[in-house]
Amino acid sequence: MKFVSTRSKDGMKLSASEAILKGLAEDGGLFIPESMPSSLPDFTLEKGAWYAMYSAIKPFFEGDELEDELERICRSAFDFPIAFHTDDGEDTLELFYGPTAAFKDFGARFLAYSMETLLSRRGEDLTILVATSGDTGGAVASAFHNREHLSVKVLFPKGRVAERQRRQLTGWDGNVSSYEVEGSFDDCQRMVKEAFMDTSLTGLSSANSINLGRLLPQYAYYVWASSMYYELYGRKPIIIIPSGNVGNSTGAYWAKAAGAPIERIVLACNANRTIPDYLESGEYKPRTSIETLANAMDVGNPSNMERLFALFPTYDEFRRNVSSWSVSDDEIRKTIKEEWEEHGHIICPHTACGERVRRDHFPSQPTIVVATAHPAKFESIVEPIIGKTIAIPRSLFDIMHKESKSREIAADYHLLFE
Ligand SMILES: *Cc1c(COP(=O)(O)O)cnc(C)c1O
Repeated sequence: MKFVSTRSKDGMKLSASEAILKGLAEDGGLFIPESMPSSLPDFTLEKGAWYAMYSAIKPFFEGDELEDELERICRSAFDFPIAFHTDDGEDTLELFYGPTAAFKDFGARFLAYSMETLLSRRGEDLTILVATSGDTGGAVASAFHNREHLSVKVLFPKGRVAERQRRQLTGWDGNVSSYEVEGSFDDCQRMVKEAFMDTSLTGLSSANSINLGRLLPQYAYYVWASSMYYELYGRKPIIIIPSGNVGNSTGAYWAKAAGAPIERIVLACNANRTIPDYLESGEYKPRTSIETLANAMDVGNPSNMERLFALFPTYDEFRRNVSSWSVSDDEIRKTIKEEWEEHGHIICPHTACGERVRRDHFPSQPTIVVATAHPAKFESIVEPIIGKTIAIPRSLFDIMHKESKSREIAADYHLLFE
């Protein structure tokens, strides 16, 4: 199995391992599979979720240098459950049982264990730089903590992340350092870009959502979840995914392309309407993001769109395969309340976007809404709406009770390397 760039499908072909270490293709494009796996695994769940993930990811590593290590990597990376909250076919796929209680744990952990193995074979070291406004940095810090040959520098804007998010960024020691930058999230991103451009600095890498290593697990759980759903109900589900950079949904489109039993894929966006507007107007207009209650989806220029355009190059094809709606903050609040009052089900603001789209556009249809984060991560929004304290999952509790360590620095990237 080989991977090519979205910008030159007849150009250089790389193995999965090479694409993971490179991150971005030489021509600036994103890596996509040259072809999809020709058969899907027969899932035996006795060995746990990690084995299902392994079975689905395996074809992408055929002939790859990590082929023999893949089983061990998956067993280490996916050491937490995936759960279906079933409700007569209007189900919810809960992807938030990892260490930082959001779906990003799947991709970040798979990437960390894969990179660790590849670097130890090469006898090389890398430093990962992450600028974060919340969720990504926590998942990456947690995933790379104590991985050999790797260190992480997390940058976040001082005073602008929620307390629980801050804990997830600063509760680390050893190979993870966190920096509270006197500036905005844009300043943090600029510092990372400048560091990458400084040729006197070597061995730097990133772990952002365009890395192939983060996408493959997101392909795998959709193959598994749609197969389980089909087995349970005898119908193909419409999968509704709370989306920002559309990395999670790209995994679902790859699963459908590989033949997974998926009826349709629907992107639930917050008030950042870039994709719904494109579907309506036929004109693709990236823009700056606006702040919403579902802040991990505050994206105006989705970084994985290039992969969706590679699948559906014309507006017509795109429209036939992609549906998307925008959900406002008021609708998010209303949906959290309704879901609690009608079903006793507590959901996070991101998941609420998906639930709203199900209620408004696909009532009584075979649907899976993807629950991307645990509601306890966003307690300051959810608790006042439902009038109740949310129990904290063990993993979050553990991080919140670690000693918080960070350095406050001015917005100058040189200070990261002192
Ligand atoms: C990152 C994130 C999203 C958006 O996922 P994309 O892959 O960027 O579309 C949705 N919900 C939560 C909780 C997230 O952390």
